[in-house]
Amino acid sequence: MGNWQDNVRRVTPYTPGEQPQRKVIKLNTNENPYPPSPAAVAVLQAADGAAFRKYPDTDATELVNAISEVYGVSADRIFVGVGSDDVLGMSFLTFFASDKPVLFPDITYSFYDVWAELFRIPYRQIPLTENFRIRPEDYMTENGGVVIANPNAPTSVALPVEAIRGIIEANRDSVVIIDEAYIDFGGESVLPLIDQYDNLLVVQTFSKSRSGAGLRVGFAMGSKMLIDALKAVKFAYNSYTMSTPIIQAGAAAMRDVAYMKKTTAAVVATREAFRPRLEALGFTILPSATNFYFASHDRVPAKVIFEELKKRDIFVRYWNKPRINNHLRITVGTDAEMEALVGALTEILAAY
Ligand code: PMP
Repeated sequence: MGNWQDNVRRVTPYTPGEQPQRKVIKLNTNENPYPPSPAAVAVLQAADGAAFRKYPDTDATELVNAISEVYGVSADRIFVGVGSDDVLGMSFLTFFASDKPVLFPDITYSFYDVWAELFRIPYRQIPLTENFRIRPEDYMTENGGVVIANPNAPTSVALPVEAIRGIIEANRDSVVIIDEAYIDFGGESVLPLIDQYDNLLVVQTFSKSRSGAGLRVGFAMGSKMLIDALKAVKFAYNSYTMSTPIIQAGAAAMRDVAYMKKTTAAVVATREAFRPRLEALGFTILPSATNFYFASHDRVPAKVIFEELKKRDIFVRYWNKPRINNHLRITVGTDAEMEALVGALTEILAAY
């Protein structure tokens, strides 16, 4: 055998939550329990198979225009991709070409360090405080970029806009990416700040508040300079990323603001209704501005609860990682799903 193996790029991949193929109560990947907007579903049902003969629109113009109308941001300041993972990965590749370390929290979206490793970007993970909060001052040191999920995941805690403004103000020489995957469930978006700071990139997704995890649509908004740089890298890599029905369904989902507001309000109502029920069972839960809880139990180890729930076909997320190995991340489902969760937990905790 030759030595070609020495030339293989080795990377430890991101571990997605399980997607079991049988029907379970799935509270492990922060999907929305409600279907996408009926307008988007109708577009998909009407899709013209014969039209796949042609390449799709590389600029996803229809989708970009819909985002532009809804957010009041001009189309040349919007970048779209195949889920926000695609947008974030492209952003790491585009904006973090410095020799200085990119900063992000030690406990945050676990794809950030994977992209940094993949693209050989130096990085430094800054510990959250004891009670899992981001300390803005920690991001005011020299760096090659900053990435913050707001609200943070898996902790569910949001930072106020003014705290993020402070981080941006202190970092005018690097790009600051704010990953707002969960912003519509209660956080305050920093989107208005893109008019003031040309180094701020705001990334959002259709996967959570627009119930479209399977559509794979994400987007970024920022200064035209940032967006042009992202587009150049995208068109240096893969130009035809989104298919025509997805571009059209995405546009329809974006325009249906009323449906998005209604379904996110339903998720938030369920989140608040079940918080005291879980607390009564002995869970401590961080204040959530998202569609999930980050919870630990006062007596029973998280791993035991995770495994016992799984035996009962209820999937939540557990990480066997330092600092968070006694916590569970539980997606907020429908009231009926949460009722089943509380029932199962009551049984598990009584038996332990
Ligand atoms: N950012 C955060 C903080 C997330 O939790 C997720 C969901 N896994 C994503 C980005 C990516 O989601 P998607 O690619 O579905 O837009």
